[in-house]
Amino acid sequence: MSKTNFDFDLIVIGAGYGGFDAAKHAADHGMKVGIIESREMGGTCVNRGCVPSKALLAASGKVRELADAAHLSNFGIHAAPVRFERRKIADHANNLVANVRNNLTKTLERAGVTILRGEGRLEGPQKVGLREINGVDRILSAQDVILATGSDPFVPPGIEVDGRTVFTSDEAVNLEWLPRWIAIIGSGYIGLEFADVYTALGCEVTMIEALERVMPTFDPDITKIAARNLITGRDIDAKAGFLASKVSPGCPVKIELSDVVTRKLVEELEVDAVLVATGRVPSSKKLNLASLSVETNKGFIPIDDSMRVLAKGNPLPHLWAVGDVTGKLMLAHTAAAQGTVAVDNILGNLRTIDYRSIPAATFTHPEISSVGFSEEEAKDFSAQEDFQLGIVRSYFKANSKALAELESDGLMKLLFRKDTGEILGAHIYGLHAADLIQEVANALSRKQTVTDLSREVHTHPTLSEVVEVAYKQAASQLKNS
Ligand SMILES: Cc1cc2nc3c(=O)[nH]c(=O)nc-3n(C[C@H](O)[C@H](O)[C@H](O)COP(=O)(O)OP(=O)(O)OC[C@H]3O[C@@H](n4cnc5c(N)ncnc54)[C@H](O)[C@@H]3O)c2cc1C
Repeated sequence: MSKTNFDFDLIVIGAGYGGFDAAKHAADHGMKVGIIESREMGGTCVNRGCVPSKALLAASGKVRELADAAHLSNFGIHAAPVRFERRKIADHANNLVANVRNNLTKTLERAGVTILRGEGRLEGPQKVGLREINGVDRILSAQDVILATGSDPFVPPGIEVDGRTVFTSDEAVNLEWLPRWIAIIGSGYIGLEFADVYTALGCEVTMIEALERVMPTFDPDITKIAARNLITGRDIDAKAGFLASKVSPGCPVKIELSDVVTRKLVEELEVDAVLVATGRVPSSKKLNLASLSVETNKGFIPIDDSMRVLAKGNPLPHLWAVGDVTGKLMLAHTAAAQGTVAVDNILGNLRTIDYRSIPAATFTHPEISSVGFSEEEAKDFSAQEDFQLGIVRSYFKANSKALAELESDGLMKLLFRKDTGEILGAHIYGLHAADLIQEVANALSRKQTVTDLSREVHTHPTLSEVVEVAYKQAASQLKNS
């Protein structure tokens, strides 16, 4: 029962990770909550993102490992030729999606959240319009409203998507077929993860990147060593500085590549399929934000640090936004964290988010991860605050666990303040980098110094000693350590 005269204490629009965590947290704190979802419960992460892509990476990663005869023979292992069934790999991903989605839905129901199926929109202050799937339109009232409508794949102009031969990650996660030759447009984390899957399963990949180098969003030193393995060492032809200006679906798919600067046609390619992995755009068009005079920034909803929606720079009462639609570090764990922070603020337990301590990972084999500032940002910050920037590198080839696994290709780069010892950022490429970054993220969030961290004992032999070595090197560079 709502303790107010509203239909609900809280209505959440969008049941992705952001909306889910917000709704559950609010219901757990005794609020009457309604959550509106127009597609599948669980949003991008569960249905078209993290969950199915990691299932595909897990299966294809095993194929890659078992097919690497040279690597296995160094252990004295000789496996028979590897066979795999594409359909069963796809089933593994689909079954996992169904499981996670059911669990998530049941968790909300058990918490007492009312699940409303249809499209939600704002209808003025504390009012939400709901267009149900059967076409019925209702107006609901709520003390507070959280917008958590997420994002969709961005398809640049000139690229025609048919969902079969030219597709985005939305379709790629279904692994409906394995093209002999696939072009992947974009070398961000989604493009890299799918290149990992496709090459492990025997596909030839052409990677097209508009910026001047592949993996443009990653640390340059990390890119150098990661690209050597993840791109050059595989059946991938990388083309940086080229714009896929026209892509026409069919058999074959035709691609026109233009020079990024002159926009002149430089090459035409014919491939079996194209995956468009050129980023994501916020899903905010249908929210009727204008009814509350909210102006978006290219579709992203402006918020303050408490997740309050801003109109003309000022926070609106009772309206909040979380997740990809806010454009802050578009990751599932960011969305979830924002969701709980928004609810805590509604409950009067004031909280903000330190985005700088949120880690990010790319689940290639091996993985790439990062937290905090890039080297360039750290340099700017050190100039602005007038302190000396410390940079140390720790290598997997000096780590016993990595050597035992015969997987010693890897690097960790740690950025820190030489005056206080505070960590500013870290970038890792190597075995289990996605797990290793969490320790640094926690330290960054707690503002621990490298001196303190260097005294913490790490288990031997583990990959975590790569981090320990970085802390020790950093501590030795501090003036008074
Ligand atoms: C291929 C891929 C792999 C990824 N891998 C990872 C990963 O490994 N780790 C990670 O952290 N992140 C990953 N991400 C990113 C992650 O999926 C997103 O950051 C996360 O899903 C954002 O959550 P959200 O709640 O903001 O939005 P979403 O998950 O997009 O959910 C929004 C929901 O709102 C619904 N909706 C939209 N408009 C309305 C409306 N008007 N009415 C009702 N419902 C509406 C949508 O249908 C959707 O279900 C990946 C993304 C992709 C595409």
